[in-house]
Amino acid sequence: MKIIMLGAPGAGKGTQAKLIAAKYNIPHISTGDIFRANIKTGTPLGIKAKEFIDKGLLVPDELTLDLIKDRFLGADCINGYVLDGFPRTLPQAEALAASLAESGEKIDYAINVDVPDENIVNRMSGRRACLKCGGTFHIKYNPPVKEGICDLCGGTLMQREDDKPETVARRLEVYHEQTQPLIDYYKENGVLKTVDGTQDVDKVFSDIVDILG
Ligand code: ADP
Ligand code: AMP
Repeated sequence: MKIIMLGAPGAGKGTQAKLIAAKYNIPHISTGDIFRANIKTGTPLGIKAKEFIDKGLLVPDELTLDLIKDRFLGADCINGYVLDGFPRTLPQAEALAASLAESGEKIDYAINVDVPDENIVNRMSGRRACLKCGGTFHIKYNPPVKEGICDLCGGTLMQREDDKPETVARRLEVYHEQTQPLIDYYKENGVLKTVDGTQDVDKVFSDIVDILG
């Protein structure tokens, strides 16, 4: 099963993608997590990507496609994957479709987690992420058992630099300009499914499971 998560930054794509990956036993592939891992270890890709990420801009397609192209070849992708944060532009979606078409494959579901902009700022300002394992929490909606500590690995939880309010506004603009058109693209492809992302995490997930079966 090949699944794409669509939705604004902070809509809950990562939260749902982790639940999907665990239930259907497929890898969760997050380009944001891969960029952050590269930034942390100071790779040349990470250094280039950081410039864009810190400003709330998208990393250029060429860099992003370079980053992701080999990931699908991993042995763990044999039964599919759930993509979180990729594709984010039409050229990325087209490159993905072309690469899948080479082996007669296609995306099965594009799940649009729909959350209006008004809710996004709250979601992002309360998000706390574990830099060690990528675990995501929310100080109010999904708090860790112990404040500031990741339930999953005991790592320290941090506010992402790009979750500060001024950057969030920019990221939302970029989303509407560059990523939202993918909703129509996948609708035309006949694979778009929309869920109401304003519901609590468990309800959003049960709606997704109803779609995936
Ligand atoms: P995305 O991957 O789309 O950027 P996340 O999954 O990281 O979004 O979620 C953004 C923030 O909102 C996190 O702090 C997360 O814990 C919280 N969150 C996710 N889903 C919900 C939900 N259904 N209701 C309330 N808060 C949520
Ligand atoms: P995320 O963790 O998905 O919110 O991604 C964090 C940031 O990484 C984004 O705001 C972008 O700057 C960058 N990024 C992640 N995925 C992509 C992508 N597919 N294309 C371009 N930039 C991306």
